Amino acid sequence: MTTTDILEGRKAHIHEKGAVPFNIACEKQSVAGSVSQRACVFCGSRVVLYPIADALHVIHGPIGCAAYTWDIRGAWSSGPQLHRMSFSTDLQEKDVIYGGEKKLYQALVELIEHYRPKAAFIYSTCIVGLIGDDVEAICRRISAETGVETIPVHSEGFKGSKKDGYSAACNALNQLVGTGDTNGISPLSINILGDFNIAGETWVIKDYYERMGVEVVATITGDGRVDDIRRCHGAALNVVQCSGSMTQLATMMKEKYGIPIIRASYFGIEDMSKALYDVAEYLNDKTVMRNTQNLVRDEVSKLVPQLRKYKKDLKGKRAAVYTGGAFKALSMIRSLRTLGMKTVIAGSQTGNQQDYARLQELSDEGTIILDDTNPLELAKFLEEKKADLLIGGVKERPIAYKLGLGFCDHNHERKIGLAGFEGMLNFAKEVHGTVTSPVWKLAALHRKDVWSATSRQHRQGDES
Ligand code: SF4
Repeated sequence: MTTTDILEGRKAHIHEKGAVPFNIACEKQSVAGSVSQRACVFCGSRVVLYPIADALHVIHGPIGCAAYTWDIRGAWSSGPQLHRMSFSTDLQEKDVIYGGEKKLYQALVELIEHYRPKAAFIYSTCIVGLIGDDVEAICRRISAETGVETIPVHSEGFKGSKKDGYSAACNALNQLVGTGDTNGISPLSINILGDFNIAGETWVIKDYYERMGVEVVATITGDGRVDDIRRCHGAALNVVQCSGSMTQLATMMKEKYGIPIIRASYFGIEDMSKALYDVAEYLNDKTVMRNTQNLVRDEVSKLVPQLRKYKKDLKGKRAAVYTGGAFKALSMIRSLRTLGMKTVIAGSQTGNQQDYARLQELSDEGTIILDDTNPLELAKFLEEKKADLLIGGVKERPIAYKLGLGFCDHNHERKIGLAGFEGMLNFAKEVHGTVTSPVWKLAALHRKDVWSATSRQHRQGDES
C-alpha cells in the first residue's frame, strides 16, 4: 500500500519517540483543510453538561447540531432522564434573517412549564454566533419570569475547538456552584469531577469512595444533579478525572473556596488503586486508609487471576490509542501493558505539552505520538506500525474496520463500563474479543488483494 504524505502544517503535531528531541505542537487550531477528528466547541460543552440529569438542555441552532449530540455518551442517570432529550429551536432560514430570539423565548417558556427542570442550559451554536441573538438577555428574562435558573452556554461551534467548549461548560457550571447550603457535609468528603457515568462508571467509582468511608458530595457531571452542584463547594477535596474538561472548574473553586485539587484516572489496576490511595492520603484518616487498603487488596486479588487467560492470547499484540484527553491515553498504555500488549501509536484531541511529555516518557521507543490527528494520518500509522487494535471513539471506529483491525470503543458509544477494577476485566474481555476475532483473517486477505492491485496500478502509472 502506498502511504500518505503528511501535510506540511501537521508535521509539528506528530512525534516519534526516540527520533528527535521531544517538542510536539499542541493546543492549536486544527490545520485548515485537514479533516480533524476533533469535535466543535458546542459539542465539547454538550459532552460535559449533558449528564446533569435534572436540568433542561436546549440547543439554540439548526436541528443538525442537536442530532449530532443527541444522547451523546449514553451517560446513565439513577433518577431523572430529562438530559437524554435533545431539545432544539430548529433554526430555519427565516430565523437566520429575522433572528431566533422570539423562537428561543417561546421554546423555553413551553419547556420549563412542561418539565419544571431544576435549571436550564441554553447552548449557542455556530449560526447563533453569526446572527448575533442575545441569548444572555433571553436567559435573564426567563430566569426572572419562571424562577428556573436559565444559564447561557457560550459554545458557538466555530470559535475554537472542543476544549473551548469545556471552558464554556465550566463557566456555566460556575454559576451554580456556591448557591446551595453546605450544612452537614462531612470533613471526609470529595467531589468527583470529569467522570460522565458512561455505562454507570460513576456509580462504580462512587461506591469505592463510599466503601472507604468518604462522602461524595457531587458527581460533576456524570449522574449529576443541580442541587448537588449548588452545594459542592462544601467538599474537602476535588478529584478531577477528565482534566481537559474539569480543571478550569476545579481551579475556579480552588481560588474562590480554597478546595484543593488532585488528578485521578479510574482506568486500569495501577491508576485506579492510585486514585483511591491519593484520596485516602489527602484525607489523612486512619479508618479511611485501612478501608482503602482492604478494598484495593480484595479487588486486585479477585481481578488478577481472571486477567491471565486473556493475557495469554494478547501477549505481544500491538495497539493504537486515540482519546479525547491525553491523560486517559496514559491509563490505556498501562492497561494494555497489564494485558501484555504494546502501544505503538498514542494520541489525543486536546492534550497539552505536559500531557504529551508524560505520554512520551511512558511510551516505548518508536511510538508515534499524535496531536489532533486526521483519518488519513491515523490510517497511515496504523498500517506502518502494523497495529492489531485501535482504541478510540465513535469517529475512529470506521477507520479500524476499513483497515481490518480490532476496535475498542473507549468513548461515546459503549454500553459496558471500563472504569474501576471490574471495568478492567470488561476491557480485557473486549480487547480480547476484538483482537482475536477470526473475521480479521478475511479482512487481511482482502487487504492483501487491494494493496497488490493498488501498487500494480501505481507501478503501471509510473511506467506510462
Ligand atoms: S460546528 Fe457549528 S454547526 Fe456544526 S455541530 Fe458544531 S455548532 Fe453545530
